[in-house]
Amino acid sequence: MTFEDFNFDEQLMDGIRSMGYENPTPIQEQAIPVIMQKHDLIACAQTGTGKTAAYVLPVINNILHAKHRHFNTLILAPTRELALQIDQQIEGFGYFVNVSSIAVYGGGDGMAWEQQHKAIHAGADIITATPGRLISMLTMKEVNLNHLEHLVLDEADRMLDMGFYDDIMRIISYLPKKRQTVLFSATMPPKIRDMARKILHDPKEITLSIAKPAEGITQQAYLAYDAQKEKLLLDILSNEEYQSILIFASTKEKVKKLGADLRQKGYAVKAFHSDIEQIEREQIMRDFKGRRLRILVGTDVLSRGIDVEGINLVINYDAPPDPEDYVHRIGRTARADAKGTAITFINERDQEKFSRIEQLIGKEVPKIPLPEKLGSGPLYEPGKKRPQSFNRHGGKGRPGGGNGKPAGNRRRF
Ligand code: AMP
Repeated sequence: MTFEDFNFDEQLMDGIRSMGYENPTPIQEQAIPVIMQKHDLIACAQTGTGKTAAYVLPVINNILHAKHRHFNTLILAPTRELALQIDQQIEGFGYFVNVSSIAVYGGGDGMAWEQQHKAIHAGADIITATPGRLISMLTMKEVNLNHLEHLVLDEADRMLDMGFYDDIMRIISYLPKKRQTVLFSATMPPKIRDMARKILHDPKEITLSIAKPAEGITQQAYLAYDAQKEKLLLDILSNEEYQSILIFASTKEKVKKLGADLRQKGYAVKAFHSDIEQIEREQIMRDFKGRRLRILVGTDVLSRGIDVEGINLVINYDAPPDPEDYVHRIGRTARADAKGTAITFINERDQEKFSRIEQLIGKEVPKIPLPEKLGSGPLYEPGKKRPQSFNRHGGKGRPGGGNGKPAGNRRRF
């Protein structure tokens, strides 16, 4: 299938080409026709699948033929970062199609607030907003959404985790009943289904089947502070049963340091990252496949594509940024029905991330107590609010969102 098959407006096709998109991703193939036909839609898709363009493109195409363009579409997103990313994608396409958009989000300073007010008064076809800030604009009667035709909820599960349910329902009370509603969510817990029943009308449903971890993988996790991780790693590596080991860390710098530290301790190890030339990468891979190297330390560059039989241990030295990366990383072991072990180190800041991984794979990963000589690690409190953290995209931070419930069931490992 190609983008030509959707019969998009020719100017929009120019926009798509200018973004360098050649073929639609699976979620785009499925979602675009449904949205163009004005059906409500509930779609289960994660970040990285092309989900943003899956609703932005058909919505833009619909707007080009709409009677009322002023505030025609509202996109709700959980965080300011995501709202800005969506707004930027719309601008990318909008350059060719003359569709305008504004982003409305909380935080920032008085200047940002002032600019958002000006933009709202100037008007636009699409508003991309975080729920809290939009509520204040609606209650102050600064925005009128009476002619809205499309409502998109992006990362709906995350919005609910962050406690936005009431705000979303209040926003919807300001919208016309007759509208098209599209809901995207990485996971489909019952609370999302409940909300969908209330706000969607006879929706079509799309679920991208995500590769679940193979049955042969034993998954384990340790709760460890950063300062405890290296000692914990050495303790695990001392087990001679593990003969072919992949270790994932979050940044190139960490990968280099870990590689150097392990080499100094006498391990047969190489660091694998984007600074290494292709020729050297190939040599490293040959050595690893040929069992001349016991350990490979890498960033996510390693998680896709490497196809080596017989890896029996994968260690996530840092919890992966996206749940899908977890599945890809640990899928490097236990290939072709073999057995393998996947161990993840979770520090106090990565607990929210890890609970999303557990949601995606649909089960709880056993938390193993730290060896006694390392002392005790952090408590497992994934719902606890923590300062904003930053992921590998350099600033695309996700606030450690609470789930609105008291942190019960505190456990120490
Ligand atoms: P998303 O899942 O929406 O966060 O998109 C992930 C990345 O894929 C973004 O950088 C998009 O620009 C890019 N992308 C989306 N659709 C396509 C496509 N059909 N071809 C190539 N890249 C795409």
